[in-house]
Amino acid sequence: MDCLFCNIVSGKVPSLKLFEDDLFLAILDIKPGNPGHFIVFPKKHIPFLTEMEPKQRGVLFNIATEIGKRMVSMVEAEGFNIVYSAGTVAGQITPHMLVHVIPRFKDDKVDIKWEPVQVSEEMYKKLISAFSGTEEKKEEKKEEPPEEKNEFDELPQIKRRSPRYW
Ligand SMILES: [Zn+2]
Repeated sequence: MDCLFCNIVSGKVPSLKLFEDDLFLAILDIKPGNPGHFIVFPKKHIPFLTEMEPKQRGVLFNIATEIGKRMVSMVEAEGFNIVYSAGTVAGQITPHMLVHVIPRFKDDKVDIKWEPVQVSEEMYKKLISAFSGTEEKKEEKKEEPPEEKNEFDELPQIKRRSPRYW
């Protein structure tokens, strides 16, 4: 597969490197939202954060935070966003997972926002109960044969999401 980010890792495609270790690479974004906008990604081709080792997710977040802190100070920004998108619907446009860190300035052109939707009290309760239900099911699975159906199947207004993201 011809993946731009794998080619950056191998050096086939040049990049503006900020940080590199055995597992991760951080480079300046060439289509930045603001000066100092950089991306962090695993060297291994991993499509989604959910597919990464839990411990490595922590390391990735630390890299993003530490470099973000330095970058914010360097460009004299007033804050920063850490943005990760899983799935096309969420805005993922690359097959290789990556995390954006974007320094923020007052009145800049970066737009990360949503309109709040109405969620009923009943739905909140169902979500909480279904969530704890999924935890219990996990425990039960140790003894019983796996069951396809989970509590989320009973939620009326929520479409089942593709399991690959969760
Ligand atoms: Zn890749």
